[in-house]
Amino acid sequence: FNVPVAVNEPVKGYAPNSPEREAVIKAYKEMYNSTIDVPMYINGKDVTTGNTRTMSPPHDHKHIVGTYHLAEKSHVEEAIATALEARKSWSQMPWEQRAGIFLKAAELIAGPYRAKINAATMMAQSKTVHQAEIDAACELIDFLRFNVQFMTDIYMEQPESTSDAWNRVEYRPLEGFTYAVTPFNFTAIAGNLPSCMALMGNVVVWKPSNNQIYSAKVIMDVFKEAGVPDGVINVVFGNAGMITDTIMADPNFAGLHYTGSTPVFQSLWKQIANNIENYRTYPRIVGETGGKDFIVAHKSAVAEQVATAISRGAFEFQGQKCSAASRAYVPTNLWEDVKNHVIKDVKSFKMGSPEDTNNFITAVINEGSFDKLATYIEAAKKDADAEIIVGGGYDKSKGYFIEPTIIVTSNPKYSTMCTELFGPVMTIFVYDENKFSETLKLVDETSEYALTGAVLSTCRYAIEEATRVLENAAGNFYVNDKPTGAVVGQQPFGGARASGTNDKAGSAQNLMRWVSPRMIKETF
Ligand code: GLU
Repeated sequence: FNVPVAVNEPVKGYAPNSPEREAVIKAYKEMYNSTIDVPMYINGKDVTTGNTRTMSPPHDHKHIVGTYHLAEKSHVEEAIATALEARKSWSQMPWEQRAGIFLKAAELIAGPYRAKINAATMMAQSKTVHQAEIDAACELIDFLRFNVQFMTDIYMEQPESTSDAWNRVEYRPLEGFTYAVTPFNFTAIAGNLPSCMALMGNVVVWKPSNNQIYSAKVIMDVFKEAGVPDGVINVVFGNAGMITDTIMADPNFAGLHYTGSTPVFQSLWKQIANNIENYRTYPRIVGETGGKDFIVAHKSAVAEQVATAISRGAFEFQGQKCSAASRAYVPTNLWEDVKNHVIKDVKSFKMGSPEDTNNFITAVINEGSFDKLATYIEAAKKDADAEIIVGGGYDKSKGYFIEPTIIVTSNPKYSTMCTELFGPVMTIFVYDENKFSETLKLVDETSEYALTGAVLSTCRYAIEEATRVLENAAGNFYVNDKPTGAVVGQQPFGGARASGTNDKAGSAQNLMRWVSPRMIKETF
């Protein structure tokens, strides 16, 4: 299998006056000062329905940057029918031809589309330019490049043969069509879920989050220009319940690739179970869901490093990564130092619109998220077992701005220690420095999730103990680092328990779920 060796896309710096900074700000301003109308994309054609909704940046919610079209049931049916028709030729397409399309998509994002996809991610999801760059540009490029390599790893996996019997495995696409449901928080995930299934020869109906339409549109433009044939990836927008009901009622539904909230994933799984007798084949179910990700510091840790892990891990992209640190356990001996450093860090974070590239914090995704976070912050102001040591303010007059907030609690099971908030709120429990073992047990028991977590320590015994005791508490476990920022090809990403099926994004293991192997034995 002669494929280009995948390399991680270098992250651009966006320094003042750099050409990349000027290009992305120019693209952002053009988007801000105009409006677009985003059609759905079915069978290679733009589909408008006249039933539209407006799009506004979360950091400037009264300003309209466009509209998008909502599907009726008939559009979803058309997307399914189209996908199944396209499957006839796509499933027979040699792997090199499929790979060529997605490698070209990676190069289009690395070059001509880079400013546009980053600007769209800044606009739609209120990412800072750096957060957009590591997501919409670099991570998506990495997924597209590395998936081609993972695909060949799978195809190479072949059984032994003998002189009178030739054993070979064909990794065929699933029999039917697949369904990608993607979240607002990573443009890279939105691009990866449909494209990795298509790369393996599948046909896809893709429903992006209504909060990510603007950047989803750029992804579709890239796929189209890269040469994804008509009907292979079809995009529908709108009412998730209706779209899912229509998809799951179809006997040809063959797989769900999902990233989003735990309750929605569980309801999709139940719906699949209820229809199970109607499907031609058992649908593959892959999901990455919530997290309540932890940082646990040992008494031997360096206070400043603990503070940096907390402030970076909790507040980059306003804490809206599934991997974001949202609970920390700090020993008594380090607490004063950690507290001083972390307050200083957080106070240095500038908050505002992403087009001002000095801002570190921008708005949270929508009013629902803003109101939920504000409710928890207000409760913490009143509760006797909680104290806000920095932040606590919020304002939705222009955008959905929540100050990065740290709550310190005397109750290790306080609500914000256990519940996923998906925003810039971190809760810290200060533990007796001599009770590290007890604290590790507490970390393990406190949440139903198991996505990411970090231990900070200079003592190898403590690192070993944490790694062992927390073996099921995080699918991605970090030693002396923050728990965010997994890189494709370096740290395959995903977790178990209520965090998902742990079919690591960015791995051959994930792509393996999108094939149905056929064993052929030929006797001579
Ligand atoms: N892979 C991302 C990280 O490591 C998180 C992905 C997510 O939020 O779903 O930070």
